Amino acid sequence: MLTRFAPSPTGDLHLGHAYSAALAHAAARAAGGGFRIRIDDIDGSRSREAFVAASLADLAWLGIDWDGDPIRQSAHLGAYAAALEELRSRGLVYPCFCTRADIAASLAAPHGPSGAIYPGTCRPLSEAERARRLADEQHCWRLDMARAVAVAGDLRWEEAGQGPRFADPLAHGDVVLARKDAPASYHLASTLDDAAMGVTHVIRGADLVASTDVHRLLQALLALPTPLYRHHALVCGADGKRLAKRDAAASLASLREAGGDGRALAADLVAGRLPTGYSLQMP
Ligand code: GLU
Repeated sequence: MLTRFAPSPTGDLHLGHAYSAALAHAAARAAGGGFRIRIDDIDGSRSREAFVAASLADLAWLGIDWDGDPIRQSAHLGAYAAALEELRSRGLVYPCFCTRADIAASLAAPHGPSGAIYPGTCRPLSEAERARRLADEQHCWRLDMARAVAVAGDLRWEEAGQGPRFADPLAHGDVVLARKDAPASYHLASTLDDAAMGVTHVIRGADLVASTDVHRLLQALLALPTPLYRHHALVCGADGKRLAKRDAAASLASLREAGGDGRALAADLVAGRLPTGYSLQMP
């Protein structure tokens, strides 16, 4: 068994991250398995080196140890580009030239699990028009979801302890797989890296359960293995809302500075005991 914790270095880690990391770490160690850290830093405009160091210090404070050096997504851009090229050569992705404003304007927007569903404006463009516009227009690459689902075959995945789920990626519409400022989307980078790292168990928040449908589809398209998934409840504050990076009081740095015992906190979290004022809830 191998699992991982994959923070994005765009802010301080909070109790919700600690819960996720502690669960994954405890599951790995209880099974005599591996636990790795992956730094999800493909978004170069928002990732900060200071948050990488702070996140690793927070994990160490929690008594969480990891195997090998942390892996960085920013070192894998070649693998993401190769996968995108493969999907492109099979006619499964297309360039989209719409601006955010174009999309907002064209939508009496139906919303899917990952936000507004793209109306498909650029899907029917001719190859000639694409080639002409690719030369000088900003663009992203979208998955042609209907085509992808048609060629993908069996999209079953398994939620640990609950049995099979049947992925419904069509609900997401034509998701973005890459753009200029982020050469792979979360979906593409995460799916490729989980496979490259040999991750057998993905343990992460239930806010990502819908994303798993897209990841399962990408696994099918790219002939990658499917890990077992466990989507856990989310840590919520006194207002009942899930924690966000702006909730400074719940940041691990502030708990540490207040003299907290990180190891005891991690053990409590794994046992489902949360500090006063916090609760676990399924979204
Ligand atoms: N970097 C992602 C996040 O922080 C990782 C999600 C995942 O575990 O797949 O939300």
